[in-house]
Amino acid sequence: MHTEDLVVVGGAGGFIGGHLVGELLRRGAGNVRAVDVKPLSEWYQSFEETDRRQLDLRDLAACREAVEGAGLVYNLAADMGGMGFIENHKALCMLSVLINTHLLMASRDAGVERFFFASSACVYADYKQTSAEVTALKEEDAYPAMPEDGYGWEKLFSERMCRHFQEDFGIAARVGRYHNVYGPHGTYDGGREKAPAAICRKIAEAKLSGLHEIEIWGDGEQTRSFMFIDDCLEGTRRLTESEVAEPLNIGSNELVTINELVSIVEGIAGISVKRRYDLGAPQGVRGRNSDNTLIQERLGWQPAIGLEQGLEQTYRWVYDQVAHRQSSAALVG
Ligand code: NAD
Repeated sequence: MHTEDLVVVGGAGGFIGGHLVGELLRRGAGNVRAVDVKPLSEWYQSFEETDRRQLDLRDLAACREAVEGAGLVYNLAADMGGMGFIENHKALCMLSVLINTHLLMASRDAGVERFFFASSACVYADYKQTSAEVTALKEEDAYPAMPEDGYGWEKLFSERMCRHFQEDFGIAARVGRYHNVYGPHGTYDGGREKAPAAICRKIAEAKLSGLHEIEIWGDGEQTRSFMFIDDCLEGTRRLTESEVAEPLNIGSNELVTINELVSIVEGIAGISVKRRYDLGAPQGVRGRNSDNTLIQERLGWQPAIGLEQGLEQTYRWVYDQVAHRQSSAALVG
């Protein structure tokens, strides 16, 4: 790609999309179109020097407008959230299939050369993730298919759509399977937040209120790996620029329990909290980690930013948001 080629980011008002637009600009992209269904006032990050458009990418005509003149399209647009959201909104999650399908059709017709699709670790079969002592997931584990109901099926279907658009129409479609991405400028409350942001918010609220008790979903012994946003951007760039046509995991392989995650945030915040476990809350699979053999083989790289380092930045940002919200509410009150 040349720096003057038009790059389109679908989902630019969201967490990863917002960071991606910033990264493209820092790397010298001179022509970026940022698209999201949300009004501009609700975007996590917005850059004046980009062509910002509010479009519903489920609609084919909107996709045609979005990709007109583009050489590269990133699809980070999806109706999604953490476990609490995806377990209770399966139909909404599956409707994101319209976004990727219509973006691919519009891209093919507009002569777009390269396309990136943000897939997810939720494509992996549930029955491979029933123990907290996990065997890390390899790309081949997605088949025989039994992904997360709703959200995971949409991702797996859309991955295949990318593959066939590449085979049949020659568009260089790249698929990254993100594993739990976290960082500043993302959802931290409202029901769509994921574990790292939710825990940062709960501990920030505990610190600000002096009530040192938080609720944890499940028994806290479920295991996960979490990837800091900067690693996510680096993996996305490397994969998009590569000739790797198969889906690749883009995820950290630093495995922790949710209880360990809480302890790290407690250390950063400088408080310790009483943990109340809600065993009836949505928890997702029991254990999940990313096997990074293939990405290392294909791209000579894997995520490297430590959890503590990433959480430090994330907690500071979430704390500031919570404190700001509380002081604004106090002023109004
Ligand atoms: P996000 O919810 O912050 O961003 C998604 C954005 O897509 C939102 O701003 C939303 O308004 C927009 N969107 C939804 N429907 C749209 C539509 N019809 N038209 C245009 N825009 C629409 O989520 P995120 O964390 O930034 O995730 C980005 C992508 O990465 C998604 O595809 C998600 O499934 C995938 N992913 C994220 C994670 C993670 O941990 N954050 C993990 C795996 C996969």
